[in-house]
Amino acid sequence: MIRVSLAVLVFLYLFVFIMAVFAVWVLEERRRQRHARVALQNRVHCSVCAYDFEDASSGLLPVCPRCGTTNERQKPSKI
Ligand SMILES: [Zn+2]
Repeated sequence: MIRVSLAVLVFLYLFVFIMAVFAVWVLEERRRQRHARVALQNRVHCSVCAYDFEDASSGLLPVCPRCGTTNERQKPSKI
């Protein structure tokens, strides 16, 4: 039989509980960032008319559907 004091038992309980909450939080945050990155992957911001549009093609310079300007793809910023 293992004898531990009540203080150690409470500490272990709280430590395990907080670590579990922290692990769930980190995993959920990673999942949220991955989904946001995928959602913004094809988004292009026009540098002339400031129009945001989706371009799923693999073209290097997508054309803005509003003003016809070619735009460079930009990496999505961190959220
Ligand atoms: Zn435009």
